[in-house]
Amino acid sequence: MKLLESSVLIVGVGGLGSPVALYLAAAEAIKYLLQIGSLLTNTLLVYDALDMSFRNIAINKSSDCPLCGENPTITELKY
Ligand SMILES: [Zn+2]
Repeated sequence: MKLLESSVLIVGVGGLGSPVALYLAAAEAIKYLLQIGSLLTNTLLVYDALDMSFRNIAINKSSDCPLCGENPTITELKY
């Protein structure tokens, strides 16, 4: 998958390392690979473990974004 195509961010209580976030990220990857269901593209999924609730927040791309904007300057991951 190209970096520019990966526009899904999943955040839960405990951050990206929480088991819930890992499960949701895996489910998104499986849906993407099998081309089934609907993806969380341009959506921030908020998980509240205290209420056991999920909330979707629509987010818009910024044309100035260095990652997904019109003139991206971040084109690869470096370790
Ligand atoms: Zn962006």
